[in-house]
Amino acid sequence: MVETTDTLVVGGGQAGIAMSEHLGRAGVPHLVLERARIAEAWRSGRWDSLVMNGPAWHDRFPGLEFPGDPARFPGKEEVAEYFAAYAAMIDAPVRCGVEVTRVTRNAGRAGFTAETSAGPVEAARIVAATGPFQKPVIPALVPEEAGVHQVHSAAYRNPGQLQDGAVLVVGAGSSGVQIADELRRAGRRVHLSVGPHDRPPRAYRGRDFVWWLGVLGKWEAPPPSAGAEHVTISVSGARGGHTVDFRRLAGEGVTLVGRTEACADGALHFAPDIAETVARGDANYLSVLDEADAWAARNAMALPEEPEARVLGPDPDCLTDPVRSLALSDLGAVVWATGYAADHGWLEVDAFDERGRPAHVRGVSTEPGVYFLGLPWLSQRGSSFIWGVWHDARHIADRIAIQRGYMDQPGVATLPEERRA
Ligand SMILES: Cc1cc2nc3c(=O)[nH]c(=O)nc-3n(C[C@H](O)[C@H](O)[C@H](O)COP(=O)(O)OP(=O)(O)OC[C@H]3O[C@@H](n4cnc5c(N)ncnc54)[C@H](O)[C@@H]3O)c2cc1C
Repeated sequence: MVETTDTLVVGGGQAGIAMSEHLGRAGVPHLVLERARIAEAWRSGRWDSLVMNGPAWHDRFPGLEFPGDPARFPGKEEVAEYFAAYAAMIDAPVRCGVEVTRVTRNAGRAGFTAETSAGPVEAARIVAATGPFQKPVIPALVPEEAGVHQVHSAAYRNPGQLQDGAVLVVGAGSSGVQIADELRRAGRRVHLSVGPHDRPPRAYRGRDFVWWLGVLGKWEAPPPSAGAEHVTISVSGARGGHTVDFRRLAGEGVTLVGRTEACADGALHFAPDIAETVARGDANYLSVLDEADAWAARNAMALPEEPEARVLGPDPDCLTDPVRSLALSDLGAVVWATGYAADHGWLEVDAFDERGRPAHVRGVSTEPGVYFLGLPWLSQRGSSFIWGVWHDARHIADRIAIQRGYMDQPGVATLPEERRA
């Protein structure tokens, strides 16, 4: 007999667990299928030394605190354990080790059929919670024949894994800067290819940036308009947390270079834009301080002044005299911290736009009964972060409960099944 459930949640990361909590509260029968372990991405999809980018008091679900100092930055294994403990606490119906390989809408009757590694499951609704960062993206710049060891940040574990020699880290979001810093501390010669970024202060006037982004309403910023470039946030919780400061990184020995543009004549070539890019990051940093000061003044908040936060260090040589190319023969490895793409290849329904991207409003897709959760900017900046996904899940559970309410109307259950979709 085919197993059935009302709502099938695919993926048991933070999104799947949050979804389960809200579906449970709404009394919606559901099942969460996870192909590996709960929060697998935090266990096997991150480098060894990774800690959370936000402090323990902020990067969590409302129902459970991390033990110990709320200002600390828990390590990646602890984060995974947190979600496993959370799932146990809410008694989430999660089945691990079951991969969903295909979901299709049933022909001539309501609902969907999921093909899984453990047999089919039928459901009235599907929530795709398979993660915002599924497929590592590596720009097609350095051909394999170039002979240089290349690894994506998703597969980077520690400095010892890379071949000897200098390392080029491409991408200066949170992953790239943290990996470059770790490699330099391990004694490697490091070049860091920097693109557009925001770099809020780790803390200002005694408050962490997550607090400032919260009170300034920036976590709740709506998705950027179509065509507007998404700018990565460069922050770090490593070594107790610190502001990402490219000048300081350069002063400590990391050579900053512009965008990696091409690979030709045995060398990698960089755009001449590094000074401009760092200056734009500085402007973003200073604008957060300005907004924070204005907010504190407007609200008469007695927060300690911190004028020294406005002092930027001198421009290092790599900004005034940019390095434009690097011979491949001088490189031991390239680490691509260039982000990820989504992969919903298993979801064969009409919920995607002409470019193959999920077509949805706040996670409610164009295919009735199909929902997305955990995607970057699903409803706001915070959507793919731990605290934000929990709130998006509540909205989706609400929508599901509303739809179920219509089906509960007297007489509906007696309709032939094909008219109930
Ligand atoms: C390096 C890095 C650091 C981050 N640090 C922070 C941080 O400090 N704070 C913060 O708030 N956010 C952070 N994030 C962002 C975000 O919290 C994580 O990416 C988080 O893992 C996303 O959770 P998710 O549940 O949406 O997706 P995932 O954690 O990717 O979970 C999806 C799950 O679905 C499963 N799955 C996928 N396909 C299938 C299938 N077909 N069938 C069954 N199961 C499937 C996977 O095995 C996985 O367990 C970070 C992200 C990265 C990349």
